[in-house]
Amino acid sequence: MKKEAVIIGGGFTGCSYAYFLIQKGWKVTIIEKSSIIGGGVRTYYHGGHPFTYGPRHFIAPESSRPAFDFLNKVIEMRHIDKINYSYQEQDDYFSTYPLHQDDIKNLSCSSQVFEELKLLEAAGETQAKNFEEFWVGRVGKTLYERYNKYYNMKAWFLDDNRKMDFGFEATVKRKPLETGPRYEFHTGWINAYPIAHDGYNKYFDWSTEGCEIILNEVVSHVDFEKRKVILGNGQTFNPDLLVSTISPDALFDCDEGELAYVGREVFKIVLPIPQALPDDVYFVYYPGQKEAQTRVTEFKKFTNHQSKNTLITLEVPSMKNKLYPTLLKPQVDLADRYIQRLPDWCISVGRMGKYRYEDIDDILLDALKFNDSI
Ligand SMILES: Cc1cc2nc3c(=O)[nH]c(=O)nc-3n(C[C@H](O)[C@H](O)[C@H](O)COP(=O)(O)OP(=O)(O)OC[C@H]3O[C@@H](n4cnc5c(N)ncnc54)[C@H](O)[C@@H]3O)c2cc1C
Repeated sequence: MKKEAVIIGGGFTGCSYAYFLIQKGWKVTIIEKSSIIGGGVRTYYHGGHPFTYGPRHFIAPESSRPAFDFLNKVIEMRHIDKINYSYQEQDDYFSTYPLHQDDIKNLSCSSQVFEELKLLEAAGETQAKNFEEFWVGRVGKTLYERYNKYYNMKAWFLDDNRKMDFGFEATVKRKPLETGPRYEFHTGWINAYPIAHDGYNKYFDWSTEGCEIILNEVVSHVDFEKRKVILGNGQTFNPDLLVSTISPDALFDCDEGELAYVGREVFKIVLPIPQALPDDVYFVYYPGQKEAQTRVTEFKKFTNHQSKNTLITLEVPSMKNKLYPTLLKPQVDLADRYIQRLPDWCISVGRMGKYRYEDIDDILLDALKFNDSI
């Protein structure tokens, strides 16, 4: 008899785990809350313009090459030479972000910044306990305030960046100050996006072939003692394996408290011009205290969509949806307590499932390891 797995959530994580289980001969059922699989990595269309909720580009160090190679065989990827801007309202100036050494002289605070950088160089490496210490120790107080302080506070709804005290380095994949070309991660990194107009969408059909998918349905309760998964419609499963990609508190009816998340509102705006941002500029970050938005993305840059118009998205931090696990130690500890309570026939994976700031490459690396273990 085939072993049975139930997967909660048909996003990139759920589909990737489904693929490996099916290949190993398991009977797999995905329970997906929405009307379509793919989760946040799915490409949608607005006025014919492809976009995702978040850029969802593949951006990873060389150590993630096995994940890239696996994905690239299914969804052909193209390398992107990408520049990001940061708007410095005090000077009405767009600098490159990650901050480039050559931009400092164009800031009105440059002499202060150079002084601080000199002192930092003399002090050498320091160990940071929180986000603020981390950035002040890397670029000095003035650049931290210009580029990181308010951006981080608004992105995570914090009144004090010292409260961000766990895994904050994971949000930063970059050197403190860039030199050389202005392209993001111009050496030693994979920076890529699907060639296909519909992005990663074919991955979701490919990876779930042979799998039962129940859409518009949630798991209402998991009875861990009886090894029973009960859906909202009353249907039950007794799987050999439960793969959960949703927040671990949900599996226990939040009996130790609800895990905190932050979200984003994404506003789609089509402009009557073929190109909004300069060549190779994909994002503009808004780190100012007075700007509600955190980022603007021009999707054509990623998708190569041909049109006389262009779609940009404007992201505004919001508590209306749950997208980002917080980087607050008490919350991470709570998530770990929930995960540790899971019996050996359940795993909790993916960004929500692990309650860690994980990207597409991390998820695929985990899934490849999982494949070796089944
Ligand atoms: C805004 C944003 C931008 C990002 N940009 C990038 C990027 O550029 N590059 C990168 O590498 N990574 C990026 N990431 C991270 C990466 O995309 C995610 O870590 C990854 O896609 C998570 O996939 P997932 O399947 O675990 O989660 P999701 O994509 O969130 O999928 C979860 C699925 O579970 C379903 N679901 C939720 N609750 C239930 C329930 N109770 N029952 C059944 N189904 C349920 C949802 O409908 C969804 O389909 C970004 C993340 C966010 C939030």
